[in-house]
Amino acid sequence: MMSILEPCVSQFSLTIDAAETITLMVESADTPWGRRLNDALIMAMGTGDTFAVSPYGTVTHADFAPGSLIDSAKVVEVGDRSVCGVLSSLEKAGLVTTRTVLHEDSHETYLSEGRIITSVHVERAFVLVSVDYRWSTRARYSSSWDTYADLWEITDRSYIVPEGWYLVGEVGEYVYDLAGVAGAVRDSDDCFYWLYDLEGFSASHCMAECDQCGSRWTAESGSWHFEADWSDACSWSFDDAWDFDESANTVGCPQCGTGRVAFMIS
Ligand SMILES: [Zn+2]
Ligand SMILES: [Zn+2]
Repeated sequence: MMSILEPCVSQFSLTIDAAETITLMVESADTPWGRRLNDALIMAMGTGDTFAVSPYGTVTHADFAPGSLIDSAKVVEVGDRSVCGVLSSLEKAGLVTTRTVLHEDSHETYLSEGRIITSVHVERAFVLVSVDYRWSTRARYSSSWDTYADLWEITDRSYIVPEGWYLVGEVGEYVYDLAGVAGAVRDSDDCFYWLYDLEGFSASHCMAECDQCGSRWTAESGSWHFEADWSDACSWSFDDAWDFDESANTVGCPQCGTGRVAFMIS
């Protein structure tokens, strides 16, 4: 039994945390390998220079010499500040292919912000290596000071990101943040339906129920207009809701006036 995501109810908000819907996807994943790609993406978005290398070859300190990087077939720079920047470098290097499964803003749902789900096929397993480049004092003050650092050290190395399929989740409005990665058995158009079959993922239906009079209402597609579900209760708008309890996420009942109305978003 999957736990239902708790809505956030306040005077200006009737929402589900978009990041929690990504967590839901990660927890429902077919394979545990999503963690590997997730950690690799975080590493590539960090400070410093990050390179993808084959886990099966040997790379040495010399392979990261700044002057030889551009022509290198062994090491590919993939560091970037955004998920899509990292993925596009990995794609150019022939390590992955990507496809957008979902790009949704929050307007027609109860999501707190937008979300992007990208299907990533890792075609060749890879490892990320972070390198810290520095200039020696001698190089910095030499008359022939050139653009290349003369000192570097490998500071970090990721676990192997295995060949396979992944769903990468990001949330945000204009700038998106990595929120989680799920490992998948295969890619197909079905993953879209698989996502929407996860209870609570679509976050587009809202059910409200009073604990006293038992009145029930529903609202759809992010709307705050609640229609009586089966009873003869009056319809009402969340704009007119009163007596908020932000810790219990309930409001006063517009029908009986004494009960508490709780919400379930799915
Ligand atoms: Zn929009
Ligand atoms: Zn009531």
